[in-house]
Amino acid sequence: MTVLVLGDQLSRRHGPLADRPDDDILLIESTAFAERLPYHPHKLTLVFSAMRHVRDRLREQGRTVHYLQSETFEDGFEQYAADHPEATLHCLRPSSYGSDDRLHQAASVSGLDIEFVDNELFLCDAETFDEWASDRESYRHEEFYRFMRRKTGYLMADDEPVGGEWNYDDQNRETPPEGWDAPSVLAFEPDETTREVQAWVRERFGGGYDDPPYGGSWADPEEFRWPVTRPQAVRALDDFVSNRLPVFGDYQDAMLADEWALAHSLLSTSLNLGLLHPAEVIERAVEAYRDGSAPLNCVEGFVRQVLGWREFLRHVYRREMPALATANALGATEDLPELYWTSETEMACLSDVVDGVRRRGYSHHIERLMILSNFGLLYGVEPAQLNRWFHAGYVDAFHWVTTPNVVEMGLYGANLFATKPYAASANYVDKMSDYCGDCPYYKTKTTGEDACPFNTLYWDFLDRNEERLRSNHRMGLVYSHLDNKSEEELTAIREQAVDVRERARRREL
Ligand code: SF4
Repeated sequence: MTVLVLGDQLSRRHGPLADRPDDDILLIESTAFAERLPYHPHKLTLVFSAMRHVRDRLREQGRTVHYLQSETFEDGFEQYAADHPEATLHCLRPSSYGSDDRLHQAASVSGLDIEFVDNELFLCDAETFDEWASDRESYRHEEFYRFMRRKTGYLMADDEPVGGEWNYDDQNRETPPEGWDAPSVLAFEPDETTREVQAWVRERFGGGYDDPPYGGSWADPEEFRWPVTRPQAVRALDDFVSNRLPVFGDYQDAMLADEWALAHSLLSTSLNLGLLHPAEVIERAVEAYRDGSAPLNCVEGFVRQVLGWREFLRHVYRREMPALATANALGATEDLPELYWTSETEMACLSDVVDGVRRRGYSHHIERLMILSNFGLLYGVEPAQLNRWFHAGYVDAFHWVTTPNVVEMGLYGANLFATKPYAASANYVDKMSDYCGDCPYYKTKTTGEDACPFNTLYWDFLDRNEERLRSNHRMGLVYSHLDNKSEEELTAIREQAVDVRERARRREL
C-alpha cells in the first residue's frame, strides 16, 4: 500500500499520510504539469521546494519515500509500477476539477489503482456544504459564513456572535494615517534545497518567460521569501498573530504604493499547500482576541476570510465546474491587455500592482479585486483569460481559488453569488489608496486629455451593459447617475473608451 501525496497536500498530520504510518509514500514532480501555464518562478519554487522539504522530513522520520521526477504523472506512475505492480495508492481528494479522474486514468495505464478520501485540509466537507446549499436558490456567502460560525463555534457565545455583530466591516475600511509604519514582513531565506529548486526552475522554465506574449513579465523577481516547511509556516503564523493581526482589520481594504503587504496575513501559500490547517490558523486568531492582544474587528475580519470565504469558494467551484471556468454572463470578449504581463502603463495604480505581481507573485485581496479585476471588468476582458493570468502569476493561486474569485466575483461572469458587479471608478481607488496623487491621469476627469481610464471605462461599462444590469436593484443608484449624462457626454465616453482600448493594445496607456 502506498500514500500518494500531491503538491498542495503537504500536511503530515492529516489524511492517509497520518492514518497509514507504515505505508510507503509517493511524490511525483511533473514538469509537464508545471508547464501548463507560464507560472511565476516563485510559485514553481514554492511548490517544488515544499514538496522536497516534506520528502526529507518524512525520510528523517523513517518513512520510505519514493520521490520521482518525470515529464508527466503517467510517466511517474509507470516508473513506480515497475517495482510496485498493482499497488493501490491512497490520496486526499484533489481540489481542482477533474484532477481525480485524470490521476485515476494516468495510474490505471500502469495497472495502479487510486483510492481518494475526503480532503481534510478544509473545514467544511462536501456533504455538509451540499446539505446547506440544498434548500437555497442561490449561494450567499454571508449565510454560509454564519452557518460555519454556528457549526464550529468560532467567535460564538450561546449561539450568538461574540460582540453582538456578525461582521465589523464598517470598522475595516480605514486608510493608514500619514507616517504609519506597516509591521515588518517576515521573509524566509532560501536554504540549499530551495536554491537548488530555484536554479532548476530558472534552467528548465526560465527561458519561456522572455518570449512573447509574456515579454519577460516574470523576469527578475525579488528574492524568494515564502515559507516552504511546516516550522517556517508556523513561524509565519506566530508573526501574523503577534505583529499583524492587531492592525489587520482596520487597514485590510487600504492600498499603499510603498506597502505591498500592509498587515495582511501572508498565510495563503501555507494554507493552500497544506503546511497550515485552517482550524489552527483560526484558533490562534480567536485566542488572540480572547487574551486581549487583538481587537474583535481584526479577528472577525480574518476569521471570515478563512472560515467563510475560502471554504465557500472551494465548494461553489466544486459544484459549478466545468461551466464556471468558461462562464461569461456579460459577453466580454476583449483579450487581456499585455500590460498585465509587462506592467507597462502610465496608470499609477495598475502599474504598481501588476509590478508587484511580477516581482513577488502576490498582491493583497483588495488590489486583486478593485484594481486588477475591476480594470478587467470595465475593459471587457474575457473572464477565462484573466483567470489564467491570476492562476499563473500568484504564488497562492490554484484553479479552485482563482476561478470563482476572478470569473464570478471579479468579472461578474456567472451569476452565482455576486449580487452586483464590483465596478468602481477612480473615486474608489482614490479613497482607498495613495496612487492618484502621483498619477499622470486626472482622477476627476472622465473624458478629454489625460482623463483617468478607470472613469471612462466605468461609465462605458454601465452604458454597454445597461440591458443586463439596470434591473439589478443594487445598481439603481449608479444608473440614476448614468441617466444624468447627456447624449453628447455618452458619445464622448464611448469614443474615449474605444481609444483607451486602442492605446492599451498599442502599449500606450
Ligand atoms: Fe489609477 Fe486613475 Fe487614480 Fe491614476 S488617476 S491612480 S489611473 S485611479
